Amino acid sequence: MATEYDLVILGGGTGGYVAAIRASQLGLKTAVVEKAKLGGTCLHKGCIPSKSLLRSAEVYATTKKSEEFGVETAEVKLNFLKVQERKQSIINSLHNGVQHLMKKGSIDIYEGIGRILGPSIFSPMPGTISVEMNNGEENEMLIPKNVIVATGSRPRSLPGLEIDGEYVLTSDEALDLEKLPKSIIIVGGGVIGIEWASMLSDFDVEVTVIEYSKRILPTEDQEISNEMKKLMTQKGIKIITSAKVLPESLVKDEHQVTIRADHNGEQPSFSAERILVSVGRLPNIEGIGIENTDIKVEKGYIDTNEFFQTKESHIYAVGDVIGGLQLAHVASHEGIIAVEHIANQKPLPIDETLIPKCIYSSPEIASVGYTEDDAKEKGYKVKVGKFPFSAIGKALVFGETEGFVKLVVDEETDDLLGVHMIGPHVTDMISEAALAKVLDATPWEISHTIHPHPTLSEVIGEAALAVYGKAIHY
Ligand SMILES: Cc1cc2nc3c(=O)[nH]c(=O)nc-3n(C[C@H](O)[C@H](O)[C@H](O)COP(=O)(O)OP(=O)(O)OC[C@H]3O[C@@H](n4cnc5c(N)ncnc54)[C@H](O)[C@@H]3O)c2cc1C
Repeated sequence: MATEYDLVILGGGTGGYVAAIRASQLGLKTAVVEKAKLGGTCLHKGCIPSKSLLRSAEVYATTKKSEEFGVETAEVKLNFLKVQERKQSIINSLHNGVQHLMKKGSIDIYEGIGRILGPSIFSPMPGTISVEMNNGEENEMLIPKNVIVATGSRPRSLPGLEIDGEYVLTSDEALDLEKLPKSIIIVGGGVIGIEWASMLSDFDVEVTVIEYSKRILPTEDQEISNEMKKLMTQKGIKIITSAKVLPESLVKDEHQVTIRADHNGEQPSFSAERILVSVGRLPNIEGIGIENTDIKVEKGYIDTNEFFQTKESHIYAVGDVIGGLQLAHVASHEGIIAVEHIANQKPLPIDETLIPKCIYSSPEIASVGYTEDDAKEKGYKVKVGKFPFSAIGKALVFGETEGFVKLVVDEETDDLLGVHMIGPHVTDMISEAALAKVLDATPWEISHTIHPHPTLSEVIGEAALAVYGKAIHY
């Protein structure tokens, strides 16, 4: 059977399902083809499950030090199965929510593997979608005026380091652990690796992070990544940087895995119960029929213009499958822009310097705009304002005084170039900085925004004053 649509979306992850909702709001007859579960990586294997585990780890770590707050508890015990049950019930509830939104928007869902066909009896242009249905029924043919490819990404491993799901894991398998290991080696000190290191250490797992670059979180501002390394080391996490893991050296026995790394001209060996590989993600471009189109692929990612159109102007691509910042809020924003472009709404392209990035470790990290080094490399003369959480009353009340906020500012124009935060709840506070960037606010304007007392957000007002050497409480 062949059904006509204004828009068919391949993949019902954050990019795909949000695009579908916007399309339905704009009156487009829309279908989503999803081979697994609506919500994609973010809901089932990414943002939500990992943040649920991080929250349990935070509660556990805080309860262990509850005496500091004058709260005495009997023995604090971790029930990891309950931790996992809680995670699953949050996922289920949000999954139901997404399904409800699809129904509300009258969006048709095809459960199966979608593939783009070339010119056919249905259409002279590539873009007809054939769906191999999960329930084994005959393939569906969808004839859309427009297509959005939002097939996402999957974990990558190192050549030769095979993921066996038992000893060598990616975040996919680690999220479903029924029992915590006593020790773990995390290969890769990027965002996912550092979130896991922080969470597992809070759960009392002995953690070693091995990172190839000179520093962990190499894309964050240097001062932030140095501070994070210091704080994680204080927590007992071992961090080895400038170290290249040697997959061929992997030895597994019944109780542990051992692996070597090239490090400062030597090859030290590391042992733990498990290895977690977090070295980036690969775009899902295989088996979706790209070869039947003129779509260009660069370095494995689908190439698009600023409105997310591929070389086939009626076929768009959004989210992890096009590379760039692989974040849920980026995927959904791209999906909205693609749909608005299809519907001739004249959307504004995304400016990457306005995208907030968050790391939900303990302490948290958040940033928007240029790092100090980026700004200098781009030729800006830079001035900086910094303010520590240790001088913020609410941080003392919370018992979380580590970290700081740093503003990177153009010395000539006073323009805000970047904001970098490490400390309590900064992932919830970065939106003020993102709004300031969107509105082109200067630190002077931020400092004239009255921040209520006592709040953690006062740190932003103080860091803005610090740009002019006028911070009040430090
Ligand atoms: C451990 C982890 C933690 C993360 N935490 C965060 C976070 O805190 N904040 C954040 O912003 N981002 C986070 N991310 C990243 C975020 O999950 C992704 O950026 C986001 O999910 C990308 O959305 P997407 O729609 O492009 O792809 P996905 O969410 O991967 O969705 C793609 C969908 O397409 C489906 N699909 C693929 N091929 C086909 C086909 N041929 N036919 C039909 N369906 C198909 C897949 O089944 C999938 O459901 C995290 C990722 C991981 C792995």
